[in-house]
Amino acid sequence: MPDAIIIGGGIIGGASLYYLLEDGYDGKVLVLEKRDALAQDATSLSAGGFRNLWSTRVNMKLTTWSIERFKNFQDEIGVAIGYEPIGYLFTYYSEPWKKVREFIPVWNENGVRAEEVKPEDIERFVPGFRPGLDHLDPDIVEFLGIEEIAGAVFGPDCGAFNPTSVATGYFERSKERYPEKVEIRLKSEVEKIVIENGRAKGIVLTSGEKIESEMVILAAGAYSRDILVRSGIPDEENIPVYPVRRMLFIVNPPPIDGFMNIPMTIIDNGVYFRPEAGNLLVGRANPDEPVGYNYDADKNYYLDEMNPYMQARIPGMEYCRIQSMWGGLYAVNMWDHNAIISPHISIENLFIVTGFSGHGAMEAPAAGKSIAEIILKGEPETIPEVKELSMSRIKEGKPVKETIVI
Ligand SMILES: Cc1cc2nc3c(=O)[nH]c(=O)nc-3n(C[C@H](O)[C@H](O)[C@H](O)COP(=O)(O)OP(=O)(O)OC[C@H]3O[C@@H](n4cnc5c(N)ncnc54)[C@H](O)[C@@H]3O)c2cc1C
Repeated sequence: MPDAIIIGGGIIGGASLYYLLEDGYDGKVLVLEKRDALAQDATSLSAGGFRNLWSTRVNMKLTTWSIERFKNFQDEIGVAIGYEPIGYLFTYYSEPWKKVREFIPVWNENGVRAEEVKPEDIERFVPGFRPGLDHLDPDIVEFLGIEEIAGAVFGPDCGAFNPTSVATGYFERSKERYPEKVEIRLKSEVEKIVIENGRAKGIVLTSGEKIESEMVILAAGAYSRDILVRSGIPDEENIPVYPVRRMLFIVNPPPIDGFMNIPMTIIDNGVYFRPEAGNLLVGRANPDEPVGYNYDADKNYYLDEMNPYMQARIPGMEYCRIQSMWGGLYAVNMWDHNAIISPHISIENLFIVTGFSGHGAMEAPAAGKSIAEIILKGEPETIPEVKELSMSRIKEGKPVKETIVI
């Protein structure tokens, strides 16, 4: 019988396993993953961006700690993860720019490097970038609803990495260092968590097999809430975390010298792009996307909602034709769009690590470390601010309000 069960073999399950064992958990841990390989869901479908530019202290801290781990992953874990500190460049219209500009000293006070970039200097980061509108037909400007770019922020410590390598690195290293303590079972879908007398007692697989354990860690991403529903948890004690599709597109780069050295760049309409193995990876959150398990990608979304904005800012972007595309699921915490890293509010020995709302890959190392400390020491010591991400904040009406979301 395992002492602990982790549901979910993604980057969060991997980081939770790794830090639980590294921090001294002396029980046996069983990881259950429904797919036939580890890290095949949101973790591998992610854009792999990381940034420490956030408006809340807790997100700044989680990402700062995690970025340090990514930087040293090769030394600490012995796995190459494609760590590329290419930076993030956020561009802004005049109204939001006023607020963001005032925030730059706050970032710097918190150890987050952020540089103000004048509109005319954006081209130094993104060749061909046009912050003004004079080059555009006024009808197009009106149709797209765009404004002049008033300023930009560059985060030099942000960048991109491969979350799948991080996840598999955590699982492989844990198995290698603690062979007698780790078991990973693929093709093992959890039907429900067994709850008796207000306490998690194990799980039941969809095959009908029952596995008892002392504790359960729920790291099943966008599927986590449904597992709790199937476990008989009433709505008011469930997590407000739902699956929402996000699409990514790989497109040709524009024929502009030096374009493959740009940072992750965020422009009008929330469109973002960065270099990806000689092409561009392009994304944009759709505010009208309904809740659901939809993994399809729609090329018209790129053609209508993304590429016209790219063309408006950078001549030659009309050449950026789709090479491939996919959809994946954000585990969106509909209540405040931030993670839940804590014990369940009413079920003993059930721990929740999900609801990352699109920033779970970049927060995974710190999330794993924090849940390990909560389990072993009763509270998150390395990043005490993680207490703000407890599930109880929902009942207490204390949302973590993050304003810098993409
Ligand atoms: C298109 C897209 C772009 C993104 N871009 C970024 C980004 O740039 N930066 C960033 O930080 N984050 C990004 N994210 C978010 C990031 O990918 C997630 O926050 C992160 O991967 C969450 O990891 P996870 O382990 O919780 O989830 P997952 O990787 O989804 O892992 C959960 C695992 O649980 C398994 N599972 C589910 N149900 C069961 C069950 N009943 N029994 C057993 N196993 C089960 C699943 O198969 C899966 O392997 C993006 C996400 C998407 C979809």
